[in-house]
Amino acid sequence: MYGLIHSIDTFSTLDGPGIRTVIFMQGCHLRCQYCHNPDTWAIQSNNAKRYRVNELMQIILRSKPYFANQQGGITFSGGEPLLQTDFIRSVLENCQTNGIHTALDSSLYVKTSLLKKVLPYTNLFLADIKHFDSDKSHKLTGLPNDLNLANLRLLSAAYIPIWIRYVVVPGLTDDKTDVIKLANFIKSLNSVERIDLLPYHTLGVHKWDILAYQYELDQVLPPSAEDIKSIQNIIANITNIKVYANI
Ligand code: SF4
Repeated sequence: MYGLIHSIDTFSTLDGPGIRTVIFMQGCHLRCQYCHNPDTWAIQSNNAKRYRVNELMQIILRSKPYFANQQGGITFSGGEPLLQTDFIRSVLENCQTNGIHTALDSSLYVKTSLLKKVLPYTNLFLADIKHFDSDKSHKLTGLPNDLNLANLRLLSAAYIPIWIRYVVVPGLTDDKTDVIKLANFIKSLNSVERIDLLPYHTLGVHKWDILAYQYELDQVLPPSAEDIKSIQNIIANITNIKVYANI
């Protein structure tokens, strides 16, 4: 069995607890307007590399000494890693057998049957909520959010640790009424450990240009520190969960 991998980062401190090996899987079925990795979208790509499970495990195990402190481990990201469920399930299972903490960074806009395949082998989900309003989610990503919310409820019912990630885009995801609804939804979940607000940025726009994709947000500026702080306070006050914001 092969996995098609866009890239591997062996010393990330941004994608879960501790030092992590992050495996960016090739392929995504969403088209988020703010995506900074559009080069991961194509399901097949000559720029991605095929790995067998044992080849990837050799790379992961080389970093195992660095995982020991602070619960480091591996994180599958993308792209959408759940589009290659059988491959990542096998790697996740191997990691747990080797005592390595496992995390999955996913949009969760996937069939629940795919998610269920990896549940027993995933210690932590870094789960996006793209937009709490389904119509606005459709406009922002190309799909409504039904699967995303249903899958979050499934993780919650199983008490699997979740870190929520929410990208703040001025004019698109910062409406206070939507943010309050989002916060109340998060509050209703059992196992959310933290929330990360990710301010919209334009660092990946050059990739859209290289790929000759039409970037729709070229008039949108990053949010102000005040806007982020305001959303941070709303969500923290409603959920009573620590909200981190990189401002
Ligand atoms: S889910 Fe992630 S990789 Fe896919 S389009 Fe959205 S931001 Fe990009």
